[in-house]
Amino acid sequence: MNNHKKYFVKPGVKLNLSKISTSDTNRLKSKKDAESNLTKNIKEMAELQAKLYAQDKYAILIVFQAMDAAGKDGMIKHVMSGLNPQGTQVFSFKQPSTTELDHGYLWRINNALPEKGRIGIFNRSHYEDVLVVRVHNLINDMKIPDKFKNNKLWKQRYKQINDFEKYLYENGTSVLKFFLHISKDEQKKRFLKRIDDPAKNWKFSEADIKERKFWNEYREAYGEALSSTSKSNAPWYVIPADKKWFARLVVSEILIEKMKELKPSYPKLDKEQLSSLEKAKDLLLDEK
Ligand code: AMP
Ligand code: MG
Repeated sequence: MNNHKKYFVKPGVKLNLSKISTSDTNRLKSKKDAESNLTKNIKEMAELQAKLYAQDKYAILIVFQAMDAAGKDGMIKHVMSGLNPQGTQVFSFKQPSTTELDHGYLWRINNALPEKGRIGIFNRSHYEDVLVVRVHNLINDMKIPDKFKNNKLWKQRYKQINDFEKYLYENGTSVLKFFLHISKDEQKKRFLKRIDDPAKNWKFSEADIKERKFWNEYREAYGEALSSTSKSNAPWYVIPADKKWFARLVVSEILIEKMKELKPSYPKLDKEQLSSLEKAKDLLLDEK
């Protein structure tokens, strides 16, 4: 087990992402060990999920944010691979449609929230509205009153997001947020692989190169957004992600820890329900 506190973003403390390692593996040297631990963790998560689903009381919302090619898709595929699909929901948020832009930015998020008993996964999220929208100054495309289209908008949105996530927490949905932290060099390597490997070509878009030019602007926007919206009940974790195997292992460990905090358990039947089970059993056994 890693010590996860070091990945937790301290609320309100200025976060300088350039100072945080992208390649740390917490002295764990071997990919093989990490993978066998991940396999164990996936099993444990599946057991916890089965209880969460049966209990039908809490939901978990997992948010993944990152620069392109940081491994969000692979993370979702690997870490969630052992879960029961019936109890999970994955949403990927792209550029908003005109219908989505006709509503507030949390509208599409609200529509995609996991039902109780389920684990919802967001591949990108409402955080894009304080990241890409900020970096590219897209506020003019938005239907918000002109008097709010100024520099104070981001702080206003952090507050809206904090209030929204608090509301979720107080209504039984736990929000966990992961920033997959890669270096600019690692992104370059992965882009080149996408270009060279025909099976990966589809993952590459020319827009990715354009976004890469805004690396520093994204760093700043992420730094401010994460420290302004990390809360004990809706934490952000910065996960070193240059080594995919390490990132996956840490995320699985944090998920297990957080799932356990909800103390999921199979519903217990009362006396009456138990006796009706016995009756049903007798009926079945008496069948000719
Ligand atoms: P991908 O995740 O590579 O499929 O790309 C989805 C794209 O949609 C990314 O470039 C995101 O930045 C963009 N996107 C997601 N949400 C928003 C948003 N609210 N406003 C503008 N662009 C967005
Ligand atoms: Mg992309």
